Amino acid sequence: MKLAARVSQVTPSLTLAIAAKAKALKADGVDVCSFSAGEPDFDTPAHIKAAAAKALDEGKTKYGPAAGEPKLREAIAHKLKIDNGLDYKSENVIVTNGGKHSLYNLMVALIDPGDEVIIPAPYWLSYPEMVTLVSGVPVIVHTDASTGYKITPEQLRKAITPKTKLFVLNSPSNPTGMVYTPEEIKALAQVVVDADIYVVSDEIYEKILYDGAEHISIGSLGQEIFHRTLISNGFAKAYSMTGWRLGYLAGPVEIIKAASTIQGHSTSNVCTFAQYGAIAALQNSQDCVKSMLEAFAKRRQVMLDRLNAIPGLSTAKPDGAFYLFPDISKTGLKSLEFCNALLEEHQVAVIPGVAFGADDNIRLSYATDMTTIEKGMDRLEKFVGRLS
Ligand code: PLP
Repeated sequence: MKLAARVSQVTPSLTLAIAAKAKALKADGVDVCSFSAGEPDFDTPAHIKAAAAKALDEGKTKYGPAAGEPKLREAIAHKLKIDNGLDYKSENVIVTNGGKHSLYNLMVALIDPGDEVIIPAPYWLSYPEMVTLVSGVPVIVHTDASTGYKITPEQLRKAITPKTKLFVLNSPSNPTGMVYTPEEIKALAQVVVDADIYVVSDEIYEKILYDGAEHISIGSLGQEIFHRTLISNGFAKAYSMTGWRLGYLAGPVEIIKAASTIQGHSTSNVCTFAQYGAIAALQNSQDCVKSMLEAFAKRRQVMLDRLNAIPGLSTAKPDGAFYLFPDISKTGLKSLEFCNALLEEHQVAVIPGVAFGADDNIRLSYATDMTTIEKGMDRLEKFVGRLS
């Protein structure tokens, strides 16, 4: 069989593959400590589940508008105004099957073959693959610990060519957990405006911040940048709703309309009754987000202290998300070798940095319980100790 050429140009998601391998080992009774999954370990808050169950009982089981339930689009526009200072109406918002789908819709709507999309590395692994799937050109800009794994305005300016259409910004970041400061965002916004390109701000971790770090939405920094900004966000991380598949894209009406047309011919609306859970998530108390955050904060400190006590690893302290991104270069192993050996010999699952364009690092998620963290760190310590 001859598959379409685009298939050979993309790689299956390594994070999903490793998480699946860890789950399969667990199912076989192996005592695996998994730090691979990018998903909170909490159940979805009860009031969100109850709202979806009520909608289901009430018969909200039919096709809905492709762009989403009007009430949810309104609630999202309101949230974007109150939380992020972005002046959107419902027509500026489309509800999608997760943040992943909102980004994919955007790529289909905006990127022509040959258009360049600037992606700072370390990156969330789906960005370049999505660009490739629509025949765009991912332009990877490497960053390192010296700038906190953040792209500088100079790096961004240098990467822009006449073919550049879009810049992908992700703060707080997966995989590094780093959060851009308001000043850094402002400087990047100026470059975007000067070059007259678009920026998509992936804000899926915006609520997961520590030590007083502030999230600022790039589109809120003035009219010029607002008109060039797309916001991608979702319910998965803040409300522990990964399996619900609920996200959204917000931006200029023309782009949102195009994304709705694409969605209308591909997936149609997101599961109707699930959208009522999302409305409840936005319109009720945010205490559930706060209590998950408190748990993440404790785990982050424990994992960080343990990692920093392991000679040979060097781990920056990030201000957001639920990941740590140790540099393993002193161990002499490349990231995939390191991760395979760690899983096989000590039953600890972590993600190789090569998946994120950073082969000197590994990614550990601390969205798991404290016992697993302590046990996994004991095993990691033994493993690294044996290497040196
Ligand atoms: N963006 C980033 C940076 C992510 O880490 C993820 C999930 O891991 C997503 C987007 C997509 O989230 P979802 O499609 O589950 O809403």
